[in-house]
Amino acid sequence: MSADILLPLLKSTFGFDDFRGRQAEVVGRVMAGEHTLAVMPTGAGKSLTYQLPAVALAGCVVVVSPLIALMHDQLRGARAAGIRAASLTSVDADFADTRQAYRDGQLDLLYIAPERATGEGFRALMEARAPALFAIDEAHCVSEWGHDFRPDYRLLRPLLDAFPGVPRLALTATADKHTREDILVQLGIPSKGLVLAGFDRPNIRYRVNPRIGAARQLSAFIAANPGPGIVYCPTRDGTERMADRLAAATGRPVAAYHAGLDAERRAQVQHDFVASEDGIVTATVAFGMGIDKPDVRFVAHAGLPKSIESYYQETGRAGRDGDPAEVLMLWGAEDFARARMRLGELPEARLAGERARLDALAALVETVECRRALLLRHFGEAPPENCGNCDNCLDPPKQVDATVLAQKLLSAIYRTGQTYGAAHIEAVLTGRRDDRIVSRSHDKLSVFGLVEGEEARLIKPLVRTLMAREALAITEHGGLMFGPAGRAVMKGEVPVMIAEPPARRGKRAARGGQ
Ligand code: ADP
Ligand code: ZN
Repeated sequence: MSADILLPLLKSTFGFDDFRGRQAEVVGRVMAGEHTLAVMPTGAGKSLTYQLPAVALAGCVVVVSPLIALMHDQLRGARAAGIRAASLTSVDADFADTRQAYRDGQLDLLYIAPERATGEGFRALMEARAPALFAIDEAHCVSEWGHDFRPDYRLLRPLLDAFPGVPRLALTATADKHTREDILVQLGIPSKGLVLAGFDRPNIRYRVNPRIGAARQLSAFIAANPGPGIVYCPTRDGTERMADRLAAATGRPVAAYHAGLDAERRAQVQHDFVASEDGIVTATVAFGMGIDKPDVRFVAHAGLPKSIESYYQETGRAGRDGDPAEVLMLWGAEDFARARMRLGELPEARLAGERARLDALAALVETVECRRALLLRHFGEAPPENCGNCDNCLDPPKQVDATVLAQKLLSAIYRTGQTYGAAHIEAVLTGRRDDRIVSRSHDKLSVFGLVEGEEARLIKPLVRTLMAREALAITEHGGLMFGPAGRAVMKGEVPVMIAEPPARRGKRAARGGQ
């Protein structure tokens, strides 16, 4: 059925003149009672695809959503639009009233957390009165291939199957091809029920740089971006330290946000940010979900994000108003070392997926080609080769062939027993005869002093690249050792091209120290 007949309702309830992107298609399927998986980027307007049916359909739409904070935001929004909406979560006190209202057919929209939706009580409630639609938000949580697997989501299937006549609408912003297929299978949605919306965010300018001095790099980035922005930091402590340093360096209002702060403080930071025209929040990934601030002008990552999916989702918070926005990711070899270490702690079933995810991230930071093209290909699109709005398109990096240097580097690591850190290996290669080198007779090795002049500048970026590619790994004491791809690189079997590092000037730089 065409969703066009709902246009008057779209206008009267939400004030919108038209559907956006592929909303109409999704709403049409829902109204026709067909199972659907809608994969749409953040900001595309996913909630509307069940909120409008909630108004149009006779029964109640049940929305399974894992994030209570997000749920309550949505609830407020829906109520403001005049929708009779309620939620059943651990923080809701009016349980009995809500259940009664549902039974009496007084609700259009009911939000529920997955752990509750899979319980006996909820099943009984659904049996008392069948819903008009099951909407499953953040549907990637059902897949072990997804980046945020939640076992509770697996238990939803029996509930869904108990109501074969009730259509299912699964929604997610972040699902690669593999995850999408898995969601379809797990939730019993036919493959033709997939509605995949475009992922491109043309107004976002992507930049990815090696981390040299995060606070300094970020201050410069912020100075060029006067509007409001978010700086994601890997740790809670990091958000606080970074807030202090950025405030001092930029003179802008900067607040830290992480899950360790009390609820009142978090609400305050969030509230101030939404109202601000130049505010900055340094945050862990806990920040941003459900924040409706369309004019975020920049998003920066002080360290490697968890996955391409998280990167896309987090950067996607910039420029939702369609005006130009900039994003910057800073990364270091140690980010990959840490991430690869964490892989070791994963159950076997998730290892392959997580490793592939990390490799994809490595490709994104390493590429000398268009970042956007790489991102979009990751999400299954076939973008043009150049976007004209990412660092690599705007200022194509000169490439250098580091294949031979990589062989020298790996030989030096091999010959010194795969125990020394990057600084020592660099000293061996460049022939620096310091005490440590002499005492270990590393100046007698054939690789000693093998790298001269300009080439020495490439050693650090090369270590980062080889780390990202898994040719190098980190020992538990912080030394460099071979990764699974190390041997092939040492034998010169795979070419290693790296981006030419920016030219250094002055005496300090010539020493190459950090
Ligand atoms: P998502 O859940 O996909 O990230 P939301 O549902 O939060 O996105 O919607 C993002 C923003 O787009 C909201 O501010 C919403 O009001 C707005 N929006 C949704 N649909 C439309 C539409 N058809 N026309 C204009 N604005 C819309
Ligand atoms: Zn590009």
